[in-house]
Amino acid sequence: MSESADLVVVGAGPAGMSAAATALAGGLRVALVDSGTAVGGQFWRHPPEHARQSIPTEDLHHALPEYRALCHALSAARAAGRLDLRLAHHVWSAVREDDGFAVHVVDRRQAPREIALALRAPKLLVATGAYDRQLPFPGWDLPGVLTIGGLQALLKGGGVAAGNRVALGGTGPFLLPVAAGLAARGVEVVTVCEAAHPAAWLRHPGPLLRNPRKWAEGAGYAAALARHRIRVRPRTAIVGAQGHDRVTSVRIASLTSDGRPRPGTERHVAVDAVGVGWGFAPQLDLLVPLGCALTDSADGNAVVAVDRGQRTTVAGLYAAGETCGVGGAALAVGEGRLAAESVLADSGAAPVLRRRQLAAVRSAVTGQRAFARALALAHPIPAAWSSWLTDETVVCRCEEVTAGAVRTARAEDGAPDHRQIKQLTRAGMGWCQGRMCGPAVQCLAAQQRSYEPAERLVATPVTLGALAGLDELDDIDDLDDLDDLKE
Ligand SMILES: Cc1cc2nc3c(=O)[nH]c(=O)nc-3n(C[C@H](O)[C@H](O)[C@H](O)COP(=O)(O)OP(=O)(O)OC[C@H]3O[C@@H](n4cnc5c(N)ncnc54)[C@H](O)[C@@H]3O)c2cc1C
Repeated sequence: MSESADLVVVGAGPAGMSAAATALAGGLRVALVDSGTAVGGQFWRHPPEHARQSIPTEDLHHALPEYRALCHALSAARAAGRLDLRLAHHVWSAVREDDGFAVHVVDRRQAPREIALALRAPKLLVATGAYDRQLPFPGWDLPGVLTIGGLQALLKGGGVAAGNRVALGGTGPFLLPVAAGLAARGVEVVTVCEAAHPAAWLRHPGPLLRNPRKWAEGAGYAAALARHRIRVRPRTAIVGAQGHDRVTSVRIASLTSDGRPRPGTERHVAVDAVGVGWGFAPQLDLLVPLGCALTDSADGNAVVAVDRGQRTTVAGLYAAGETCGVGGAALAVGEGRLAAESVLADSGAAPVLRRRQLAAVRSAVTGQRAFARALALAHPIPAAWSSWLTDETVVCRCEEVTAGAVRTARAEDGAPDHRQIKQLTRAGMGWCQGRMCGPAVQCLAAQQRSYEPAERLVATPVTLGALAGLDELDDIDDLDDLDDLKE
């Protein structure tokens, strides 16, 4: 079954929502697809519609007026029949076709049953966001050790606190809202280990001074943490987790300037859950196979290269939000608007924003990108993080490949990057296809280059039954036939 629109937007997070709303305001017919059950993405993650009354999460959110305005615009366009909103639909592949794109989707609203379909449009906008970047450490595969994004998603999406006594670690300002959110739900946040030192920010005064709202946000979290007596320990890391059936304690240590544990500083802290995050890695699954150029970003990730109007190097293909570099929700919203304005211009439609408004959005995006760059430089991955690993530490959890096996592949077989290490050890060949271990394996290969994900032709596992149904569904032309097929 195939549907068409003027524009397909993949990802209904802040970037995709604002792009879709702008394109709709400009008169285009839009298909907006997201694998989640509600719009909002990671930043505005909410419980499913039917559970919102019983699971209050509003106090965990920021910028809700903007979210509500975008929801309102999307609902109005949907009611007018110009927005085709596809929630619980996962895009597994996007390919060029004639003068446009075919976006292959599995409808998972009745999971485990899957229905495959294709959406077609002359223009495609990819706003698939990012996922938590992880570094392995001894014990990171114990139950109760989560990513900080995972802790936050449980909290915002289900009102669930993953533990009663939680330690957080990693680097970056995202540790702060997660600590504040957990504390607001009565969780004892026993420690927040920040690997970077705050003094690193002083090396980038320009972007800091030009983004006072970010300071205000940071000050708000600092006040919340102080209220709950949560201590943030700079230049400290969680270097191990212990427990039998699940985590019962973590080992924390002060770090030297290159990230090695300072001798004599290690100590154990009793916990029942742990959250760790080392920034985010952009979700480029759909963009890499389409052939768009990538570029380096300051945080060690390859990101999609875009021009000032969010056009990729592939004609008709646009990107916005964290696929273009990790920088927060406000930046994602601005980039979504810019991308949609480019789609309108390239489709011959009139702009939605007036010239001065467009210039203001551009200037805000430039300022926020500079801030994101300063943030990445102030919160790097510690150079010597791999000194925390023993040879027995599992690096690739799907295929159970250890740090020792990766080191051997590098030292004895001369594997230069994560791709060759994958061929020699199977690291990255499992269910997650290297999303979890890829950045770490790249670091272990001692590569200075940014982490560039391998090309994955299928972005999410899709059943053969759904694919077989795609051919049959392409041949049917009325709903009675569809009912016959279902039986
Ligand atoms: C787990 C997690 C939690 C986060 N929580 C916060 C937070 O609480 N506060 C904060 O300031 N920042 C948070 N962030 C950072 C946050 O991602 C950004 O600031 C902001 O949400 C980026 O907006 P975006 O639109 O670029 O991407 P996202 O918000 O990530 O939206 C991308 C959307 O694309 C969808 N998608 C991805 N791939 C596909 C596909 N193949 N098919 C269909 N749909 C797809 C996803 O379901 C998602 O809804 C979080 C990040 C992560 C990874």
